[in-house]
This record gives sequence, C-alpha cells and structure tokens, in this order.
Amino acid sequence: MSTAPLELPADLLPADGRFGCGPSKVRPEAVQRLAEVADELLGTSHRQPRVRAEVQRLQEGLATLFGLPEGYEVLVTLGGATAFWESAAFALVDQRARHYAFGEFSGKFAAATAAAPWLEDPDVVTAEPGTRPTASPAPGCDVQAFTHNETSTGVMQHPERVDDALVLVDATSGAGGLPVDIRATDVYYFSLQKGFAAEGGLTVALLSPKAVDRIGAISASGRYIPTFLDLATALDNSRKHQTYNTPSVSTVFLAAEQVDWMLATFGDLDAVVAAQRAKADRLYGWAEARSWAAPFVTEPDARSLVVATIDLDDAVPGEQVTAVLRANGILDTEPYRKLGRNQLRVGMFPAVEAADLEAYTACVDHIVERLPG
Ligand SMILES: *Cc1c(COP(=O)(O)O)cnc(C)c1O
Repeated sequence: MSTAPLELPADLLPADGRFGCGPSKVRPEAVQRLAEVADELLGTSHRQPRVRAEVQRLQEGLATLFGLPEGYEVLVTLGGATAFWESAAFALVDQRARHYAFGEFSGKFAAATAAAPWLEDPDVVTAEPGTRPTASPAPGCDVQAFTHNETSTGVMQHPERVDDALVLVDATSGAGGLPVDIRATDVYYFSLQKGFAAEGGLTVALLSPKAVDRIGAISASGRYIPTFLDLATALDNSRKHQTYNTPSVSTVFLAAEQVDWMLATFGDLDAVVAAQRAKADRLYGWAEARSWAAPFVTEPDARSLVVATIDLDDAVPGEQVTAVLRANGILDTEPYRKLGRNQLRVGMFPAVEAADLEAYTACVDHIVERLPG
C-alpha cells in the first residue's frame, strides 16, 4: 500500500536542504556572483589574464587560509582526487607506499598503488570502518598515505610525520573544515566540491619543497608517465596560473569565492574549525540524546567535524526517514551505500549553516515520532 509521503511543516524546514557529503551545498551567493561576472569569464580563454587571475585568487586565498609555510606551493590541476591518486602512483611514489585504509576512499588509493606494476605492493594498515589506524614508521616505504577525513564512515585521521617518507594526505572532504599543520604534510590534496563548495573535476595540492623535489627526481628518472597525470607538467602550468588542458572556470571561481568567504566570515582556518566543532557537537549531542540514535564512531576524538554518521535503531528504518526528507527537499543524507548500515550521513561542510543542521534534526525528530508502528 503506498501513501503520500509525510509533509513536513514549513516552519520546521531548513532554509537550504542540501546536506550531501560530496558534493557539498554550493552557496547561492557564490552562484549569484558567478552570474554577475559570467560575461567576462565563462567562455573566455583560460590562457588570458582574466581567467588566470581567478586561478591566482584561488591559489593565494588557499595559501592564506592554510598559513602556507615558506617554500610550499599551491598546485592547481585537473581530474579531482581520483585522478590525483593515479598521478601520485606515477609521480610521487618512488617504490613503495604505506597506506592507512579504513573505508572506501582510503582503500581506493591503496588499490591504485597496488595495481601499478612499476611499484612494489603497498604496505597497507587497515582498521575497521568507524575506527582509524595508528600511524607507525614504515621501513622501505617512501610515501605515507593518510586520509584526513574518511568520507564513507565519518572518521578523521590526523596526519603526522613518523618517518622520513613523504606525507601524502587525501584531504578531499577534510580540507577547510578540519585542523591541520601543513608543516606535518608534504602533499595535502583535495578536490573542490566538498569543503570548498564548488564543483568536481579540479584538484589542489599543497606541495612541500621535498614533494617538489620528488616530482622532479621521478620525472628525470625516465619512468613513463602519461602527460595528463604528470605532476611536473601540472606544476609548470600551475606556476603560471594555468592548467595543462582546459579547466572548469566556474569551479575555479566558485572555490575562490568560498575561500574568500571563509576568510571574510571567520578570519582564519582556526575560526572555521571552531565553527565546525560547534556544529558537530550539536549534531552528535542530538543523536546521543535520542534513545533510537547514536554516533556510529564510538571514539569521540575520531568523530568527523565535517561528515556525521548517525546509527539508527532497527525500529527506525533509515530509508523511510531519508525518503520523507527527500520528498520534502532535504537531500542526500543516505548512508554510504557499501557501508550497509541503518544510518544517516550528514554533510556539515563549512557552507552548511548551523541553523539548517538544527532544522535537520528537528525534521528527523518529527518524522520518527510519526513512523508507523
Ligand atoms: C569525494 C572523495 C574523493 C573522490 O573525489 P573525486 O573528486 O570524486 O575524485 C576522494 N577522497 C575522499 C576522502 C573523498 O571524500
């Protein structure tokens, strides 16, 4: 028997119903700004000053936000994090990588270096979904691969130097929302459709001098590297505020707007992180106060400040809850499919307002109170 989905009272609804964990909500103000400058920007050459100025605005904004240490560079390139894993296997891993695999995304990079015939099999340290592995020295490995925020499970792992290997950090969902000391990293890389509230297809990597040296050394070694994935080529272009092939200019623009908005609204990354912590505390606190919900991640310090995973009691079928939410314009809080849990997964990225998260929890309460049975 099918009935019309429950209609949520209008005064309960969030102002913006986008709570996905990737892509993130894009702020309407940034889209408005893009529309205002579209005539001079979209459909114009990415080799000309107008577009290169936007790439430079993004690079300089990120350098400020992350307090970029002396000698570090902001690489902008194409392909997103998934392409960057392939670039890293070609252009950053010399012989063998240590990976920490504790969910879907961290596991995918490990699979990429495992599949590369020119590399030794990776040294993979795993942890159960919902937990995180402890970093340790990895003799014989020249890369240590961390994932700042495992988006599939809502677990944070903070990068650290434990040996001489290059520290690579997939910060696709964590960047701009989690605390980081860039000095503890050599390659802090991310796509722009999560914390930076733009769209997919571009990658940023904050590179240490040591990482730049590694790129140069592998490039000079004669290893075959497809040009599109070659980070030496990408770096040459990025230093000129360009990309090797045609970028999505709107993505560059939206990300630059988001960085400038973060700096203007919060001041610095510490202040953004403080706001993230406040939002996360409210959401996890809400779950802990419900008899039918609980944070999936049991170790409080490992709970993500950008992606909340909330387990539901068997009596509260998550797919019914998210179906009602979706019918009312509250989108994308289904759990990560392969995790297979009765769960809500809520994106709390910087663009998502605290008041909207509050409204989200009120809507879920309203639905659960009215579930049949
Ligand atoms: C979303 C995500 C990716 C994949 O990013 P793409 O831009 O789609 O390639 C990789 N790693 C993490 C941690 C992510 O959250």
